[in-house]
Amino acid sequence: MKLFAIFGDPVAHSRSPLMHNSVFKHLNYDACYTRVHLPDGSKLKETFFALNLSGANITVPHKEAAYEACDEVRGFAKKVGVVNTIVNENGRLIGYNTDADGFMFAIKEFGAIKNILVLGAGGTAKALCARFMEDGIKVSVLNRSQERLAYFRELGCECFSWDDFKISKYDLVVNTTSAGLKEEILPCPSDLLEKILDNSSFAADAIYGKMTPFLKLAKSKNITFKDGADMLLGQGVLANELFVNYELKTEEIKLHMSKSFEL
Ligand code: NDP
Repeated sequence: MKLFAIFGDPVAHSRSPLMHNSVFKHLNYDACYTRVHLPDGSKLKETFFALNLSGANITVPHKEAAYEACDEVRGFAKKVGVVNTIVNENGRLIGYNTDADGFMFAIKEFGAIKNILVLGAGGTAKALCARFMEDGIKVSVLNRSQERLAYFRELGCECFSWDDFKISKYDLVVNTTSAGLKEEILPCPSDLLEKILDNSSFAADAIYGKMTPFLKLAKSKNITFKDGADMLLGQGVLANELFVNYELKTEEIKLHMSKSFEL
């Protein structure tokens, strides 16, 4: 039996084990998926091999550490330096990023999006911004601190920290910070966020399974919003295809993953 896992800190909230196990169980694939609480990202590789894993997903805050841990990085992950999926290929760790395409799947229902404000500048923001830029979308980034903005400036995004933010009109504002995941806090000061939401058509949170303070504020302003559940589904389907080396049908993976959301 193959063993897969998700690494993160925190990781108890993760729905990935339910999603992947639902696929393995219903499609009779001989595998099991568990969660591993990993406070120290530099221990990722040794923990992966100690558990004899065939593959893994990586969540907050280790996606950049996962990039470093890989022997080879393929596709979009190589461009952004952020890995959320690892496959064990004959003892070599191969890294991929399925978050960005998962998110594009999630926002399809909002129609044409030309101008996005991204809150946060971590691993998820990097992947999403690079993907948005590829699609010719105008991207602005607002982060608590300046340090992580250099990457986004180079990418061609308009960058701000809380002190120097200048408001525009946005088709979509996305929360990619982890504010709201554990604590009931907003991703930026409330006066800024009020203005941002007053100038945005849609709001999306990468956090899933709860009404975050960010989404509650969007709702109170009658803005169409969604949480990160569809992004989770999108990235999960793509990761599962990599785990089973495309032996299962995409539509069936998607069906059984979606069903696990009802559990
Ligand atoms: P990282 O740790 O790489 O980045 C976190 C970002 O959040 C940084 O920009 C950090 O700012 C900011 N931040 C953290 N705490 C606060 C706070 N209290 N106030 C304001 N900003 C804050 O995380 P990831 O990019 O890996 O993940 C971010 C979120 O996205 C997580 O909640 C994760 O669960 C979610 N996610 C969901 C997915 C899905 O499938 N739905 C997929 C991927 C991620 P600073 O630079 O100042 O430290």
